[in-house]
Amino acid sequence: MTASIDFSGQSIRPGKIVCVGRNYVAHIKELGNEIPESMVVFNKPASAIGSQLTAWQDEDIHYESEIALLFDGVDFIAAGFGFDLTKRALQSQLKEKSLPWERAKAFQGAALFSDFVEVSQDQLAELSLQMFVDGQLQQQGAVNLMMYTPATILAELGRFMPLEKGDVVMTGTPAGVGVVKAAAVYNGRIMLGEHCLVEHSWRAV
Ligand code: ZN
Repeated sequence: MTASIDFSGQSIRPGKIVCVGRNYVAHIKELGNEIPESMVVFNKPASAIGSQLTAWQDEDIHYESEIALLFDGVDFIAAGFGFDLTKRALQSQLKEKSLPWERAKAFQGAALFSDFVEVSQDQLAELSLQMFVDGQLQQQGAVNLMMYTPATILAELGRFMPLEKGDVVMTGTPAGVGVVKAAAVYNGRIMLGEHCLVEHSWRAV
């Protein structure tokens, strides 16, 4: 359903979707960015949640594969695969002018999610992601490669923008971002150790 996520048969509309930028060193280098002094954060509104992966909206759409975590008011309790979709050319222009990124990151359909599946606190550290384009592994990341772990993200957000029940955090993309190609199939997986916790496929239009 649009503008909501699914967890255990429930449809949840997040109050906010908080995105952590530049959380994997290899991706920071790939975009030529500096390693940040403090955690880079931006938000997407719930209205950004879509169901269709589109290759073009005014310009090329780029994908970022992310481990997404659902907050229950106390802790992260579930994980899902998320696409942080980006109008990269526009974002570059906005960055150059030191303007906010909403036009490039918060548009309708800019956040896609698999279902969310319950995880224990111990399991959070073992989560990883894989994303395949037409069966070829294109991106992989893991909590143990993040500069800011889920616990650190929670603590840092708590200092100025506390999470509320039903909020979702997108934990940043590993290296391997690229342009969405129409008709290609994008398969995102969240792994717990060697086991696939949840996966979702989108055929880009
Ligand atoms: Zn991202």
